[in-house]
Amino acid sequence: MRKRTKQVATICAAALLSASVAVAQADQAITVTRPGSQPSSVGPASNFTGSVRVDSRFQASAPARIGGGTVTFEPGARTAWHTHPLGQTLIVTAGVGLVQAWDGPVQEIRPGDVVLIPPGVKHWHGATSTNGMTHIALTEAVDGKTVHWMEQVSDAQYRR
Ligand code: MN
Repeated sequence: MRKRTKQVATICAAALLSASVAVAQADQAITVTRPGSQPSSVGPASNFTGSVRVDSRFQASAPARIGGGTVTFEPGARTAWHTHPLGQTLIVTAGVGLVQAWDGPVQEIRPGDVVLIPPGVKHWHGATSTNGMTHIALTEAVDGKTVHWMEQVSDAQYRR
C-alpha cells in the first residue's frame, strides 16, 4: 500500500511537471505568423494620403515594446506628418520612396536602406510620385502608443 501511494505520488508529480512544462512552452514558444493568417489592412485617410496597405502586423507582449508591419505605398501615397515617442526604424524592401523631417531635406530611400527616425521628430514617409515603395516599420510603444498623428502632407509640401 505504501509502495502504491508512492507510485501514485510519483505519477502525480510527473503530471504536474509536464503540465508546468506545457505552460512554459506556451509562454516561450516561438510564434510564426503565416501570410494569409490576417487580412491586409488599409492606411486610413485620416493619417495617410493615397493608397496604403499594411501587412504582417505584429506587436510583442509587455515588457517588450516592439511592434510593426510591412507598409506598401502606391505612387503618390504617403503618411501624414507624425512623431513616434521612442522613434522608428524603417527598412526599405521594394520600390523607391521618400522620407523627410520637418524643415529637413526630402531624402530618397531604396531597398536595403535603413532609416532611423529619432524620438519626437516630426516627419513623413511614403512613395515617390512615380514609383511605389514598401518598407518594414518597427516602432516601440510607450503606454500602448507608438505614433502621434498630425496634419496631412500637402501636395505643395510633397512636390518640393
Ligand atoms: Mn514614421
